[in-house]
Amino acid sequence: MLRLLRNAELFAPEPRGRNDLLIAGDRIVAIAETLAMPPSVVPIETWDLAGANVVPGLIDGHVHVTGGGGEAGPHTKVPPLSAESLAYAGITTAIGVLGTDATTRSVRELVAAVLGLRARGLSAWCCTGSYELPVPTVTGSIRGDLAFVDPIIGVGELAISDHRSSQPTVDEILRVAADVHVGGMLANKAGVLHLHVGDGVRGLDLVRIALDISELPASVFHPTHVNRNPRLLDEAIALACDRGCTIDITAFPDEDLGDALPADRAIALCLDRGVPLERITCSSDGGGCMPTFDRDGRLVAMGVGQPGSIVETLRRLVINHHLPLHVALQPFTTNVARTFRLARKGRIVVGADADLAIIDDRLLVRGVIARGEVWLRDGIGAGRGLANI
Ligand SMILES: [Zn+2]
Repeated sequence: MLRLLRNAELFAPEPRGRNDLLIAGDRIVAIAETLAMPPSVVPIETWDLAGANVVPGLIDGHVHVTGGGGEAGPHTKVPPLSAESLAYAGITTAIGVLGTDATTRSVRELVAAVLGLRARGLSAWCCTGSYELPVPTVTGSIRGDLAFVDPIIGVGELAISDHRSSQPTVDEILRVAADVHVGGMLANKAGVLHLHVGDGVRGLDLVRIALDISELPASVFHPTHVNRNPRLLDEAIALACDRGCTIDITAFPDEDLGDALPADRAIALCLDRGVPLERITCSSDGGGCMPTFDRDGRLVAMGVGQPGSIVETLRRLVINHHLPLHVALQPFTTNVARTFRLARKGRIVVGADADLAIIDDRLLVRGVIARGEVWLRDGIGAGRGLANI
């Protein structure tokens, strides 16, 4: 099946101007100002975009695809996320994480959910492990999971500086980081240690000490939720500027912000303070619980992370902070692809996967193509239900 997109205002993410795109199967095979129609014997569907903005499909690097939560009993477990809830929010690639609960949930369940998203036509990978130590795995070891389980590309979200963590020591963090680093090498995968950082006073101490006393590269450590309070964001900015780590900003829903900085303000602040743009990623924590705890660690309120929060952050970066679209896109596209080493993701170039979002001038998602298949057209779901499989 060929699909010819006419008159796309292309952001690859760099601005490329008005172009036609030809998609064959799940790949982009040609981009040019004007593409000739293939011979009439070839089945082709043409879509005239009339100058609409076409950007890379967003990559959400932290999604609780199985649903997270459960921190106030089994009735507070969040249900699994649907493929539609991701795709309709412009997300064509998701990286799944388990979260607090590896007791009533498992990494196997996470891998199965990721394979389910792939079968539906999205792109998905995941981290092995959860908040806790020892790291729960599928094969019995971190290195084994990276080597033998296709969707597993890192470890996470391992919790530090949080009352829900396993209270890991530096030596324990170093051992996990070494295993994910070397496992990544053996498997030719990213080998990232994706760290959930809580609001404890130790902040990013463990990461700084691990970098000080080991030979591990900064690229192994990818701390997330770093905008959960201003003090932690200051530490994260220093870690990115001085140590070269890539930091992950969480797009918390407005109603669950608490002490957190909204993701758009956090990204703008990072850029103001000199963090190189390529060291910033932004994820939704979609499907994760957004708890509020009392002083005894009891949950008193709970929201749920929403996949749509990352495109809303993109919108605010452009409209409220006046960032050029091609700049604002990078924490959601190229930077995530580089961090997790997803070679055919995050860019609109010949040979890349045909993952595209079509957004209007108000930055609302009007169309989505994932691996060559249309999920959303003119703001309406294209009916890629189970019956289409
Ligand atoms: Zn987390």
